[in-house]
Amino acid sequence: MDLLTTLVDKGLRRELPTREEALAVLATSDDDLLDVVAAAGKVRRTWFGRRVKLNYLVNLKSGLCPEDCSYCSQRLGSTAGILKYSWLKPDEASKAAAAGLSGGAKRVCLVASGRGPTDRDVDRVAGTIKAIKDQNEGVEVCACLGLLSDGQAERLREAGADAYNHNLNTSEATYGDITTTHTYADRVDTVNKAHAAGLSACSGLIAGMGESDEDLVDVVFSLRELDPDSVPVNFLIPFEGTPLAKEWNLTPQRCLRILAMVRFVCPDVEVRIAGGREVHLRTMQPLALHLANSIFLGDYLTSEGQAGKADLDMIADAGFEVEGTDQVTLPEHRASAGGGCGSHESDGGCGSQGVCGSAPASTTTATSTTTAQEARTDLVAVRRRGTGTDLAPNA
Ligand code: SF4
Repeated sequence: MDLLTTLVDKGLRRELPTREEALAVLATSDDDLLDVVAAAGKVRRTWFGRRVKLNYLVNLKSGLCPEDCSYCSQRLGSTAGILKYSWLKPDEASKAAAAGLSGGAKRVCLVASGRGPTDRDVDRVAGTIKAIKDQNEGVEVCACLGLLSDGQAERLREAGADAYNHNLNTSEATYGDITTTHTYADRVDTVNKAHAAGLSACSGLIAGMGESDEDLVDVVFSLRELDPDSVPVNFLIPFEGTPLAKEWNLTPQRCLRILAMVRFVCPDVEVRIAGGREVHLRTMQPLALHLANSIFLGDYLTSEGQAGKADLDMIADAGFEVEGTDQVTLPEHRASAGGGCGSHESDGGCGSQGVCGSAPASTTTATSTTTAQEARTDLVAVRRRGTGTDLAPNA
């Protein structure tokens, strides 16, 4: 396909595709899907080889959020039966992080529910970052605490944080349909604050919330403009007890197209498959490793992932390797440009659904409108182990 040749050429030159080209990727047929994966896979291998970076989520504070993000099981009014607890102590968080690191993760993502941290919360998280860094040489720490006020990003940087995550989630045009208690502009402002403080910015999206192809392309183009070092791609986990519980409209094929589009638009950026991987990609997860170069190991914030060992087996079976702490994640031109993470860097982060379908009715063609699937609540398991419980974590 001419489209794919053009997109590979642009990806290798780090050139932005046109909106029409990005939309065309989302509209490819199932007959062309393997060609799409192979093309985006070429771009992925050029910039990231066959390495897969493992990230580990520690939910520092769970539930009880005053914000109303529709996708989130921790939102105001959520009746999802998730774990609810207040701030973990530094040693508890450090113990949780150690489990992920011994499982092969190189980055720990410290996440707290809420609109944003108070200065006292930032002090608390600073103590946690210190505890984790003191005990684990070479670990990368990313904080995800919501909207930041002036000076807070700098204080997190001083405390040793390498990165800050805050997702755009969806297009500016539809943001108000998803959340009313803060704005898209608030989110952009926080990503910019993280950048300005010298933190490696991590910002991504949630697919499957009823958005159009145009919305997906909008948010991914906006992300490219914000220039984060890592882009987590969440696939909505429609938690019972949240307003989006009935949004079961992703297929494994659709998820692969979305990841391919993100790779073409953000060719040299860490593309991470975040929440919803097991739920929506299911047996197609290994193919997605040809598109993304990063995943979360084990469980998510409020839901359970597959066993950590299954993540490791999948990576090895698909012919990829887990990235070590001695390997630099980002390509040289990005790492040397100051990406804190590259240089050593919903359910995948607050603002990302801290955030699962039957086979599509039609397997022959894909259109910009996806067909709603049957609810597969059997695929959504609320987290009942690890942090906040007496049971061992999954890592
Ligand atoms: S995404 Fe974050 S801010 Fe929004 S409801 Fe969930 S925990 Fe609160």
